[in-house]
Amino acid sequence: MSQNGIHHVTAFSGDATRNVDFYTRVLGLRLVKKTVNFDDPGTYHLYYGDATGRPGTILTFFPIAHAAPGRVGIGETQETAFRVPRASIGWWTHRFIEKGVTHEALVPVLGEPTLRFRDPDGMMLALVGTETAETDGPWTGAEVPAEHAIRGFHGVTLLLKEAEGTAAILTGVFGFHEAGREGAAIRYASGAPEGGFVTLRAVGEFLRGRQGAGSVHHIAFRAADDAEQARMVETLTRTYGLGVTEQRDRQYFRSVYFREPGGVLFEIATDVPGFAVDEPEASLGLALKLPAFLEPHRAQIEGHLP
Ligand code: ZN
Repeated sequence: MSQNGIHHVTAFSGDATRNVDFYTRVLGLRLVKKTVNFDDPGTYHLYYGDATGRPGTILTFFPIAHAAPGRVGIGETQETAFRVPRASIGWWTHRFIEKGVTHEALVPVLGEPTLRFRDPDGMMLALVGTETAETDGPWTGAEVPAEHAIRGFHGVTLLLKEAEGTAAILTGVFGFHEAGREGAAIRYASGAPEGGFVTLRAVGEFLRGRQGAGSVHHIAFRAADDAEQARMVETLTRTYGLGVTEQRDRQYFRSVYFREPGGVLFEIATDVPGFAVDEPEASLGLALKLPAFLEPHRAQIEGHLP
């Protein structure tokens, strides 16, 4: 049985050390993989997630020191939200005050308590308190107690000129259904516990975004395997007339990319093989991992990385 929903979210950040500090120490995520951008091996590619980096828990960054800040506009991801147990929202509010994290007052969004905050690059994030989040296994190796730990993504909010084209892809290709409306926002749900929601915020004519530190580069959706990914690609090309890239081997999953009608870069990533393919689960993220085609250049690559 295939599981739909978000596979991972990939963003740009500034300084790598500051990024690792914030996500592993302040938010308590596990650094599950330290590798390089396969298309630009002079840049790190950092993956954060739960204990094993299950699909639906993975936030990844390309850190670029001194990168100019991005500006959110239409055709971009406005907010990336994580799930925490509903009873833990107060604990997190206290932690943000203690750690000096920029945050807003708690607000209800479509019936769920939502604590909006920003990472050190200004990336717009949120914690959403959910009833179901209490039961799922968190990463327990961090300074955040297991009972309060982040349980993967809640979902993302996309800022769009209009919602229809994007909604058609979510419902017609990725198995989402409409789950609620509030103001200009329409929420779609896939039923997955982690990464199960995409909210579309249609605002008409507005400035386009500018990518930079704190900007989301793309959103990846799950396909169980190559066969399910191929079926999705066929629907995208035949029914929706969209151009999709060839499959690329990302070592931990296999990916295709396309620009959805609202302008956001989407990816379809396979659930297989996962992050334990090149190092044991117990030591995920500790060593710099390179794909076979870059291994001969390891010394040179390590020399260039901060
Ligand atoms: Zn990706």
